[in-house]
Amino acid sequence: HPKWQFAFVFNINRCIACQTCSMADKSTWLFSKGQEYMWWNNVETKPYGGYPQFYDVKVAQLVEQVNPGGQVWNTRVGRKHHAPYGVFEGFTIFDAGAKIGQAAIGYIPTDQEWRFVNIYEDTATSMRALVDGNDKSGFTASEQWRSQGSSLPEHESFFFYLQRICNHCTYPGCLAACPRKAIYKRPEDGIVLIDQNRCRGYKKCVEQCPYKKPMYRGTTRVSEKCIACYPRVEGKDPLTGGEPMETRCMAACVGKIRMQGLVKVGDDGLWAEDRWHPLYYAIRVEQVALPLYPQWGTEPNGFYIPPRHAPRGYIRQMFGPGVDNAIDRYIVPSRELLAVLQLWRASQQIIFRYDVIPGPKVFETQIHGRKFEMYNDTVLAFNKSGKEIVRIQVEEPIYIRPAERVTWL
Ligand code: SF4
Ligand code: SF4
Repeated sequence: HPKWQFAFVFNINRCIACQTCSMADKSTWLFSKGQEYMWWNNVETKPYGGYPQFYDVKVAQLVEQVNPGGQVWNTRVGRKHHAPYGVFEGFTIFDAGAKIGQAAIGYIPTDQEWRFVNIYEDTATSMRALVDGNDKSGFTASEQWRSQGSSLPEHESFFFYLQRICNHCTYPGCLAACPRKAIYKRPEDGIVLIDQNRCRGYKKCVEQCPYKKPMYRGTTRVSEKCIACYPRVEGKDPLTGGEPMETRCMAACVGKIRMQGLVKVGDDGLWAEDRWHPLYYAIRVEQVALPLYPQWGTEPNGFYIPPRHAPRGYIRQMFGPGVDNAIDRYIVPSRELLAVLQLWRASQQIIFRYDVIPGPKVFETQIHGRKFEMYNDTVLAFNKSGKEIVRIQVEEPIYIRPAERVTWL
């Protein structure tokens, strides 16, 4: 097991799909010949989008074919540290792979499916299409939401953005699949890399990563994947003077939806208790952030605060049975969660610990019948060396420009 694990939390509710993260990644690592179609970071629009097209539907269908009707969660087992959302009793990609004699079940996307990172996903089913008689959605004009719209807490007509990079999984499908043993997980930070010298381009990782994050490069005839900007994580960027720094896609995030860090791993391979680590707190204590498609069994280290407005059934199949708890916690956040959420994109350095200094109560209201109180607490964050790098208040301060600086009056 690694000593530390690269991990991140994306807050889906805040993403504006500006694609700044995708462009930061593209302009840093993916601008060479043969990498034209590669997007290690992509932001797709659910429910229709996917890069490569239909990857998640296809993987789900492949596993279902091997285990028809058996892909179910057992949520009666109660919450445990390492299984806080219940236990999945169906087949993972590895179980399904064993049935057909390979490490994990999978498929190689066609060139057509890789060609466009975003295609057709924003093609809405509109009233106009209904009027013109060419609506292909299967809904009818008589459905209420057609004429009346829909409102929170859940929208029947919905979309949301899904931000994706390699999850640097605890049990990587790509690593299990590689016949050359070219893929390895670094002991110091759990980052999963492809050794470019050992790889012979067999595309087994492309086939057996269910998230489709390794990509084949025709010009070099080897596969490549997200490298988690490891020089930054190692503290090699001159900007932070040797301190670990977040990846390019995280640091560039305009919507402030992303936080990446390193979580401590215990001797048993599970995350060690680390109560004052912001990612540990969000994922393990509040359980407000959930892994993407946990049923696939790779134990991804990317976690998402699920979209509060999307139909629960849809997001449960993406993030598992912890969805209801996570959304409840998010829409009426605890005093501490509200404070910790301020840390998303407050620093480019990796945060290893936080603290909260209590402030006065500034606001009170009811949200969906529940009382919500807001306190203007001050949140502090510390880097690996224990140096304070963030001091921020829950209530955004207002600065009034002095009269002598106002030149347009
Ligand atoms: S997301 Fe895919 S490429 Fe990344 S570690 Fe997991 S299995 Fe490997
Ligand atoms: S930069 Fe942030 S807000 Fe913009 S698309 Fe990426 S994740 Fe979303």
